[in-house]
Amino acid sequence: MIPSTLSKDTIIALATASGHGAIAIIRLSGPEAISMVNGVFKGKNLEKQASHTLHFGTIRDGEKILDEVVVSLFKGPASYTKEDVVEVSCHGSPYITEQLIKLFLRQGARLAEAGEFTKRAFLNGQFDLAQAEAVADLIASDSALTHQVAMNQMRGGFSQEIKALRAQLIHFASMIELELDFSEEDVEFADRSALRNLITQLQRLVTDLLRSFEMGNVLKNGVPTVIAGKPNAGKSTLLNALLNEEKAIVSDIPGTTRDVIEDEAIIGGLRFRFIDTAGLRETLDTVEAIGVARTKQQLQKASLVLYLFDVTSTSPAELKAELEALQLPQVPYLLLGNKQDLATPEQLAQFQEFEHLIFLSAGTKAGLDELQQTLLEQVHANEAITGDRTIVTNLRHFQSLQKTSNALLEVLQGLDNGLTGDWLAADIRRALYELGLITGEITTDDLLDNIFTKFCIGK
Ligand code: GDP
Repeated sequence: MIPSTLSKDTIIALATASGHGAIAIIRLSGPEAISMVNGVFKGKNLEKQASHTLHFGTIRDGEKILDEVVVSLFKGPASYTKEDVVEVSCHGSPYITEQLIKLFLRQGARLAEAGEFTKRAFLNGQFDLAQAEAVADLIASDSALTHQVAMNQMRGGFSQEIKALRAQLIHFASMIELELDFSEEDVEFADRSALRNLITQLQRLVTDLLRSFEMGNVLKNGVPTVIAGKPNAGKSTLLNALLNEEKAIVSDIPGTTRDVIEDEAIIGGLRFRFIDTAGLRETLDTVEAIGVARTKQQLQKASLVLYLFDVTSTSPAELKAELEALQLPQVPYLLLGNKQDLATPEQLAQFQEFEHLIFLSAGTKAGLDELQQTLLEQVHANEAITGDRTIVTNLRHFQSLQKTSNALLEVLQGLDNGLTGDWLAADIRRALYELGLITGEITTDDLLDNIFTKFCIGK
């Protein structure tokens, strides 16, 4: 992309988190970035220094020294925004950063809008739109897997797939458009069976990407894991053990966990959203009854169910009956025989016939490692989430891919029905348009505003 939009404004923002810290960084970008800092910097003449160099000195407001700082110079286009960028590393005091920013505003800088540095980077061709969006995901990432997905997207993995899809379609679109130019001569430049093969292949790729969104969602929001079982089985205790903090109410009175308690824990780099539910049993207590109804609702949303029972007070026949009453939806489940610490070997041996069963003691945390290991295996078995597979995590991308898929379907139907080239071309163009929106080859102001205003200030 041609950097036609290099801005006249020089923008400024605090790049580090607000609050006290060892160091804070104030970033400026734009044509005056270097001269503005140079005007208040006592040290070397910054305008005469090479790009990618550091300079120690003081920043002064008139005669008053505001701080001792280190200035980093990045001359465009070899910078994040492709403009001149200066980063001023000062002492991490909110007072100092405020004074420095005010000083630069007086020099003519303007406060950056949310995401404006990254928006400039995009507009100046540093990266495409999907990569720019990944910058925000990377900052928001808080587990090994969300990090991996965002990093892959930022480095262009996802964009490359989309661009390759688009390039193939463009080739066919141009062949068909060529036919239209020669429409009177009834020629076919675009081989219809090759087109069908290509569209089928593309449709498969798009479908894979669409499916990956479900996993992407799980990565972002956690694997919804419901902990169910009769009152007093130890659900709250287990939740606490998994979370390592006192969140759920633990008590000896059956039915104390009246409401749904949710919390998250990261196990093996993967986020789990644990949902502790009220005991499942028929009850006259209305508060508890609401809880039971909610449990059933929660079960519908679960990707994984942990069914907990007390091994010291449950017989195999009772367990079977409980499981039948529960009418587990079609999701993977694990049976957890709790309070192993109180059980005799004979009591444990009774449950041999049950599959997916783990004995543990939520109270003493014995068996918790095995449970965590099994949880991970369940998810990994369910979906190929590791490795290089591209995962769609962004709703905007998902929606565009859906529309792409619809358009491709219409191309296929058009081929089946022997539609003429101009109809096929229209559907292909629609698919091209949607794919182009993902990577930003096609943009609108609204789209960009929508994306970048969700960024934090200073990014
Ligand atoms: P919930 O109703 O299913 O949430 O059950 P709670 O977590 O409130 O536990 C009921 C009681 O069982 C509490 O007194 C817990 O301390 C106790 N308990 C839970 N897990 C264990 C365990 O593994 N061993 C022993 N000995 N007691 C446990």
